[in-house]
Amino acid sequence: MKTIVITGANRGLGLEFTRQYLEAGNRVIATARHPEQSRELSQLKSHYGEKLMIYTLDVTDDASRNAFSKTVGNKVIHLLINNAGYYGDNKELGKLDTAEWLNVFEVNSIAPIKMVEVLRSNLVNAESATVVLLSSKMGSMTDNTSGGAYLYRSAKAALNAGAKSLSIDLADEKIKVVMLHPGWVLTDMGGPNALIDAQTSVQGMRRVIDGLKASQSGDFIAYDGTVVPW
Ligand code: NDP
Repeated sequence: MKTIVITGANRGLGLEFTRQYLEAGNRVIATARHPEQSRELSQLKSHYGEKLMIYTLDVTDDASRNAFSKTVGNKVIHLLINNAGYYGDNKELGKLDTAEWLNVFEVNSIAPIKMVEVLRSNLVNAESATVVLLSSKMGSMTDNTSGGAYLYRSAKAALNAGAKSLSIDLADEKIKVVMLHPGWVLTDMGGPNALIDAQTSVQGMRRVIDGLKASQSGDFIAYDGTVVPW
């Protein structure tokens, strides 16, 4: 049984990760800004009892991250899934909003790396932990053939740059780091035209996480196992 921390676990891909990892017999620490408002999380709690711990966490807030780390104490964490993300209001060139851009960076680029800072010793204690960062093909230069989406694209590209450094800096501590593209998924963010459901996406990502070798740490991989070009 592994202990898995998931951010943004109240809906979308985070909720589906929580569901599937619980079903597979793991202990899940599900975090969200307002977990008390998620009917789905309370249903899972009544079903799984102590195997599901639910905590309040705003990933962009220093005090919230520190309080969470204190609550977790010295628990061993085998897998950290930095799932929380925010698309933002991506206006066209000429109308770009700096304050909104900074919001998008805080959630997608800065918070996931800060989460690793506060949970580093818990991950080290697992002796072979994995850090997952939910990235996006929209952060890939190669994949960008349509332009636009300045805020989100640049934030996921920045996340990838930070995650690559994590993979190098944490290699001696036996912590693997992987950036995952979940596909275009039917969630609030993905919208109604998306191509796959959350169940298919998470099943695929779990397969990639399970099979991840140390030599793949720092790679950018899609839910179907294909490597995403930078
Ligand atoms: P959703 O918009 O459905 O859910 C986003 C989640 O992130 C919510 O739980 C939300 O919580 C949480 N969140 C946002 N800001 C914060 C914060 N400051 N602190 C804590 N939690 C926060 O998105 P998806 O489930 O679709 O996306 C999950 C991840 O996958 C994201 O990183 C996204 O960028 C990435 N992704 C998704 C794709 C898709 O097609 N869906 C494609 C490529 C990448 P709250 O309910 O409180 O707002």
